[in-house]
Amino acid sequence: MEEYFKRLYAASFNDFCECLNKRIAQKERTFIVTANPETFWMGQSDKEINTILLDPKVTLVPDGISIVKSAHMLDIAIKERITGCDLADYLLKYAGKKGLKIALLGAKEEVITKLVEKIKSDYPAAQVVYAENGYTPDKDAFFQKIKKLEPDIVLVALGIPAQEKLIYQHLKEFKKGIFMGVGGSFDVLSGSKKRAPKVFIKLHLEWLYRLLCEPKRIKRFYDNNIKFMAHILKLKKAKNKTK
Ligand code: UDP
Repeated sequence: MEEYFKRLYAASFNDFCECLNKRIAQKERTFIVTANPETFWMGQSDKEINTILLDPKVTLVPDGISIVKSAHMLDIAIKERITGCDLADYLLKYAGKKGLKIALLGAKEEVITKLVEKIKSDYPAAQVVYAENGYTPDKDAFFQKIKKLEPDIVLVALGIPAQEKLIYQHLKEFKKGIFMGVGGSFDVLSGSKKRAPKVFIKLHLEWLYRLLCEPKRIKRFYDNNIKFMAHILKLKKAKNKTK
């Protein structure tokens, strides 16, 4: 698991956005995985996710606060959280500034329709070349459809690990584009769901807010986050012994 941490982007959110601007300008294909405890924990048992997390061509950013804190516990310097939701928000804004082409896959039909309308009104210069809800049975077809449209930004909101696996399977078919799995971000960015109040975000308690709003997430939280933290504590203990 420590290998994943060593691959995390370590500088600030703003620095990362600068990198993305350059990669877009230079038409460099980029796959961003927004890492949280669930992603890293899955990598331990899911071969495909492990391959993705260790692929040097894949960019890992620290989405969850537990990832940042755990990195520090393992003596790995990470500046701050870089969340999928903030990155998606930034990319849509940037697309509006530069007239970039966007393709979107994921969320319910009413959510994706609302998001496309919002992009059109907030960033009229951005071009949404294709958008589809995430409940179509043939999700591979989305990539066939967008290939010839040559999008600059491709956001996939299906949740972990489906979105990462799907992007990874199709990535090689594209010459350029920023690809990113964004989980529940379309729900938030479209205004269909509220993100945690600012005070929760500031205190790094966004995860708690989500648990309070959606108690059905508690099992998923235990299965991933608690086991992840126990594993980190074990790694930290082993590290201290060798010091
Ligand atoms: N979703 C989808 N198709 C599916 C399952 C889920 O489009 O078959 C969408 C769902 O509507 C939601 C997102 O994927 O917008 C997943 O959100 P969740 O909050 O579970 O993801 P997280 O942010 O926790 O990874």
